[in-house]
Amino acid sequence: MFISYQEFEDNLRRVQASILSAEAKSGRPVGSVTLLPVTKNHPVDAALYAFRSGLRSVGENRVQEALSKMDDADSALSWELIGPLQSNKAKKVAERFDRVQSVDRPKVAKALQRYASEAGRNLRVLLQINAGADPNKSGASLEEASALMECAMEQPNLKVDGLMTIAPLDDELAVAHLCFAALRNCRDGLEASFGVSLPELSMGMSGDMEAAIQEGSTMVRVGTALFGKRDYS
Ligand SMILES: *Cc1c(COP(=O)(O)O)cnc(C)c1O
Repeated sequence: MFISYQEFEDNLRRVQASILSAEAKSGRPVGSVTLLPVTKNHPVDAALYAFRSGLRSVGENRVQEALSKMDDADSALSWELIGPLQSNKAKKVAERFDRVQSVDRPKVAKALQRYASEAGRNLRVLLQINAGADPNKSGASLEEASALMECAMEQPNLKVDGLMTIAPLDDELAVAHLCFAALRNCRDGLEASFGVSLPELSMGMSGDMEAAIQEGSTMVRVGTALFGKRDYS
């Protein structure tokens, strides 16, 4: 059974308190980290709860699942794709999502460009970088980041807001810290070499958001801590 709105609100207060405390501990201004609720695998109610509480964007992992929720949910919600994107889904994604955080290769950037242009839209994107060099995670390698950035910047209908990463699953938070610091350094390098501003660093999830905030995250993507476990079996 999915949680009640009351339970969600309690969870939300806890998560917001952790964000505030991590911001303070890191000497960062209040409000420098945005919470993106991740509603994947949950019923559309998760997105409706988020909207009702005042949050305005949700993150979804699978294109098909997100599209059907968009049809059922409030049209004022913004949707961010945080999961892998195959080029054959690029048309729908370019038409319906507000931002794509998972641009991980030139082919995806070019496909999004083509369909965003056809739809007469500009699409905000993040480049997904496998900053922890985890063989189980998607994302361009740190070495590929510059070529991917160059390609994304050549696409007139795409606007690169920054970078996204998923830290390797590891009991040692030090591993996540290294990954997040590597993403920040990668961002700093791209800003310097391309002469652009890349303000968004989407990093940190339920298990490692404090570490991410200490390393400069501007957006944490949180599912389990807000909506409970995704296992309904
Ligand atoms: C599922 C998912 C999250 C949220 O993970 P939790 O551990 O449930 O907070 C964040 N980012 C991505 C890319 C995800 O797929």
